[in-house]
This record gives sequence, structure tokens and C-alpha cells, in this order.
Amino acid sequence: MKYIGAHVSASGGVFNAPLNAVEIGATAFALFTKNQKQWKSSPLSEEVISKFKENCQQHQLNPKQILPHDSYLINLGHPEAEKLEKSRNAFIDELQRCQQLGLIYLNFHPGSHLRQLSETDCLSRIAESINLALQQTSSVTAVIENTAGQGSNLGYRFEHLAQIIEEVEDKDRVGVCLDTCHTFVSGYDLRGAEACEKTFAEFEQVVGFKYLRGMHINDSKTPYESRVDRHAPLGAGEIGWDCFAYIMADSRFDGIPLILETTKPELWPEEIAQLKRLAGLAE
Ligand SMILES: [Zn+2]
Ligand SMILES: [Zn+2]
Repeated sequence: MKYIGAHVSASGGVFNAPLNAVEIGATAFALFTKNQKQWKSSPLSEEVISKFKENCQQHQLNPKQILPHDSYLINLGHPEAEKLEKSRNAFIDELQRCQQLGLIYLNFHPGSHLRQLSETDCLSRIAESINLALQQTSSVTAVIENTAGQGSNLGYRFEHLAQIIEEVEDKDRVGVCLDTCHTFVSGYDLRGAEACEKTFAEFEQVVGFKYLRGMHINDSKTPYESRVDRHAPLGAGEIGWDCFAYIMADSRFDGIPLILETTKPELWPEEIAQLKRLAGLAE
């Protein structure tokens, strides 16, 4: 079964996110459980938590269909001790919020070396951050997202994801999310079925589909190998519909949240409907 949705707004309270998902015909969704541009957040009240769970249950949105995303401020590979500590604490808080909401995933960008650490050392630091965070929580899986490789952001090679997983102690609580835009601009071709076949075979070999916990389904405004992260509506970018049709027809992408982060929310109902048709799902 394909679970298809978008990164929806949680404004007014996280309990609005499942309702916003249903509104656009989604069977999956992503959300921020706090303001993603601020370090501070107020704790989730019992009332907010139960309203969230109620709304999800009422609309048959199970935890495996929901992919919360952490704050953009967090850098789990920060080269400076004090700032690393701040990021680690914020990450633990994010995991705990997910746990309180009954969620099982937390999607995050691995981190940046800021040109002060080697790539390998920074990846080890990220793995150590994940280990520390998993020790303080019990039920949420850390879902590492591949990146476009802008600036000094790591995670733009499948090998980066593999090294982090290798160094995480609890393999049952680590996974990955592939973003099609990031995959493409970081140098893995997705234009057409043949290119997809090759790219996902490489993913299987280096990381393994058994670690795949979600996908971000985005077209790319910027060209192949540009390492510049600019999402585009499906079919309106450099990747094109063939890739999305390929994913929707392939059972390796079943049972995980497939999330649009495309740039025109007004197109989401249409994009979701089209993806559902490609997946052979009745509307
Ligand atoms: Zn993404
Ligand atoms: Zn992106």
C-alpha cells in the first residue's frame, strides 16, 4: 500500500496537521511538532496530545504514515562543543515530543562540518549524537534524510548515510528518508525508468531498502549535480513524471510515508491524486 501526502501546516496546534492532510486527500503527512525556526518551544499539553491522537485515529492515519521533521537549526555534527550540545538537547526534545504524540519516526538532516571537521569525523559525530539521543528515548526511529549537498551539509552521498548507520548502535531505531530532489541534484540520476533502476540499485547496495522509512517526493528546479536545493512541483522541474511513476509502481516504496514538499501547496490535491492513480489506488 502506498501512503501519499505532503508536509502540512500544524499552525494553531499539531492536532490540525492530520485534518489538513485529510483536506487534500492525503493518506500520509509530515509536520513540525514545534516552530522549526526557533530553539525554544512550549511543552505539548495533555489536551493537545490527545486531540492529535484522536484526529489521527478518526481518519485512519497511523504512526507509520506520519513523518515528523525536526527543526532546521539543529546540527548534530557541529564542530563546536557548546553548539553541539545545544543541538543534541534540542534533538532529544524533538524525539520526546514525537514519543509523546505516539509517533514512531523523526526525520532530520544529518548535519554540517562548517569546514572545521573532515567529512568522516563529522559523520562519526552525527552518529554519536544519534546514539546519545536514542539512549534517552525508547520508541522513536531516527530517520536520516539525504541532502542536496549545499555548502558543508553532509548526507549527499549514500555512503554518508551508510557510515552513520554503521556507527549507530541500535540498528532497529535508525533509518533513512530519500528526497528525490536532493538525490538528483547531488548526482544520482532519476530521469526515466532506467536511471531510476540504476540509482535505486546503488541505494540498495550501499544502504539497503530495509532502512528506508520515508520519501520526500519533489521535482527539482535546479539541474542534475548542481548541489543546489530548490524544489519544484511534480513535472515542472528537471526530474519529470517518469521518476514519480516509477516510484508509485514499485513495491519497495510501499508502507512508508511518501511526502510532497513541492512549492505550490495549491497543487497538492492534484499531485496527490495523480500519484494515487500511478500507484493504482482508487480515489
Ligand atoms: Zn526533504
Ligand atoms: Zn530540499
